[in-house]
Amino acid sequence: MSNNRPKVKIIKVGTTYIAPSEQASNILLQIKRDLGIGGGSTVTLIEADRRILVDTGFDYEWLDTPVNGQKNAENLMRSLKDLDMVPDDIDVVFITHWHKDHFGNLGIFNKAERLAPNGIVERFGLKDFRGIENQEEITSGVRMILTPGHTIDHASLTVNTVAGGITARVTVAGDAVISHGYFDSGRIWQYNADFYSVNKARESLLHLIDVSDVIIPGHGDPFMAYKPPWTKSKYNKTQSK
Ligand SMILES: [Zn+2]
Ligand SMILES: [Zn+2]
Repeated sequence: MSNNRPKVKIIKVGTTYIAPSEQASNILLQIKRDLGIGGGSTVTLIEADRRILVDTGFDYEWLDTPVNGQKNAENLMRSLKDLDMVPDDIDVVFITHWHKDHFGNLGIFNKAERLAPNGIVERFGLKDFRGIENQEEITSGVRMILTPGHTIDHASLTVNTVAGGITARVTVAGDAVISHGYFDSGRIWQYNADFYSVNKARESLLHLIDVSDVIIPGHGDPFMAYKPPWTKSKYNKTQSK
C-alpha cells in the first residue's frame, strides 16, 4: 500500500535575501545579489497519480527582462533534467500564492493543469487556473490547506507520504514558512506590499505544526516539524480556536 503513496522531491531549494537575524537594507540586498543569491522560491515535485509541481520559482524577480526569464527557464529545466524530466512531464502546477518568485516560470509548463487557491484565482482573475477550496484533495493523499498571513489567500499542500520507509506527513508550506530560521524564531516576513496579518501568519504556523512531520519552507531547506519556543510564549494566545 505504501507504494501507492505520493512521493515528494525537492527540485530546487529556494533562497532568501534577509535572514531573520538581519536588518533589511539596500546594502544587504546588494551584497546578497552580488553573492549570487537569486531569492527564488523552492520548487517541489509531488509524484502521485499525477506529477504535481508546487511553485515554479524565479530568481532575481525584479529583473523583468527577457534574458532573466530565459536564464530562469533554463535553470529550472536543467534541474528537471537531473531527474530525467522535461516541463511537459508535469501534469499539474500548483501555486501557493501570487508572488513572482513563486510563479515566474509558469510559462514553460504548457501541458500542465494550473491550480491555485480559490481566493487567488478570483482576486487576480486567473482565467487559465482552476480554483481549489480549503481542505480539498487535489489527488489521493495531497490536500490543500489555507495558510493566510503572508498574503490573505496563501495556501499550503499537505502530502501523506513515506520518507525513509516511515509514514510521514510532508507539508509544502510556501511562504507560510519562509525558512527554518523564521520558523524557529517566530519572526514573520513582512516586506511584501500585500502582507496580510502577523496574527494570521502565526495561527497558520501553529496549524502547520499540528498537521506536519516535515516542513518544506518557501525559501530554505526542509526540516522536521516541532514546537519552537515562541509557541509556548504569549504569541500562542493569538490562536483563535
Ligand atoms: Zn517567496
Ligand atoms: Zn511570497
